[in-house]
Amino acid sequence: AKKKKVSLIGSGNWGTVICKILGNNILCNEHLYEKNLPMFVKKELYNGIDLCDIINEKKMNKKYMPHCFIPDNVMASSDLLEVTDRADILVFVLPHQYVREICETLKGHVKNDAIAISLIKGFDVYGNKLDLISNVIRSQLNIPCSVLMGANLAYEVALEMYSEATIGCKDEEVGILMKKLFQTHYFRIVVVDDELTVELGGALKNIVAMGAGFSDGLNGGHNTKSAVIRLGLMEMMSFSKMFFKDSKMSTYFESSGLGDLVTTCYAGRNHRVAKEFASNPQQTLENLEMNLLNGQKLQGPLTAAEVACVLKLHNVEGRFPMFSTIHKICSGEMPVSSFMDCLKNHPEHL
Ligand code: NAD
Ligand code: 13P
Ligand code: CA
Repeated sequence: AKKKKVSLIGSGNWGTVICKILGNNILCNEHLYEKNLPMFVKKELYNGIDLCDIINEKKMNKKYMPHCFIPDNVMASSDLLEVTDRADILVFVLPHQYVREICETLKGHVKNDAIAISLIKGFDVYGNKLDLISNVIRSQLNIPCSVLMGANLAYEVALEMYSEATIGCKDEEVGILMKKLFQTHYFRIVVVDDELTVELGGALKNIVAMGAGFSDGLNGGHNTKSAVIRLGLMEMMSFSKMFFKDSKMSTYFESSGLGDLVTTCYAGRNHRVAKEFASNPQQTLENLEMNLLNGQKLQGPLTAAEVACVLKLHNVEGRFPMFSTIHKICSGEMPVSSFMDCLKNHPEHL
């Protein structure tokens, strides 16, 4: 059979760790894949030097993930269409707000029989309609798209600490192929056919992570954070049932559900920035994102706004008090101190 060409779109904190995993797995399976793994790097300078050149010469992404060595077969480029040219497998790992723009450029330039996988956590809002990121990829590029989500803090996976992930894929054969492409001895994958709920888990947990950070910054205890996680999970499940009829609640017990929720509420970037904001509310979230994350992107505040817009449209904000309060805090409509009142007055206890 003809060797498949894999292309990677994204090169941030997680994208760089993924290029290490994919690059190495491709080298171990040269009979299946074209040896080179092209990776799209948005053009930018790092200390006056093109980040792409740094990645290609030093085999390290000094700006977004200096903790992992990049395999020799990874070829960084800022020309998106060159990266994706003739690709059989497109791997998307970008902050979710840029997906539509990237797909606009790719439209009409992707092979008919290409397949995609999205590692992106977030939603798309177009007009008033909330949609899955994978659906933007499917409909813009007219190709199937599976998803990979899980409890995967990039830094820990970079250090090869044991982690699990979930691939959601409706097609069994493609699921097996994707698992072979991504799994390593330290990065263990379960494939499920419920791609919808896998993606919902990854997107919605970023909202709850902001709440966990608020709780810690406001000197809540471990019990408090457990309550945030539990109430948050209930709202994630209710939201899924209400707006995505086909989603299966059992999928929330995969790494992409409960696993990711817990890890993100303890040690993710959303948690870190939200905690800092709650202990120091004269700062804005935008400034904290800039100062603490150095170009990496928070997905929580945007996702909270996207979800809040839908809740408002359907007049069900009252049934999602934590999601709604987190959005109002992130957007400056409520003080962060009111987060504790949201917990105390949660309808669950009335
Ligand atoms: P990141 O947060 O490090 O963001 C920086 C990246 O965004 C850089 O590659 C930058 O070039 C790119 N970027 C900035 N502006 C852009 C634009 N206009 N168009 C295209 N790209 C642009 O990115 P990340 O950590 O790789 O996250 C990507 C996705 O993976 C997100 O959905 C995130 O939720 C998810 N994820 C992240 C982690 C993690 O620990 N970092 C783990 C699992 C999943
Ligand atoms: P943060 O974006 O909050 O760092 O979460 C990373 C993640 O998705 C871990 O699975
Ligand atoms: Ca281009």
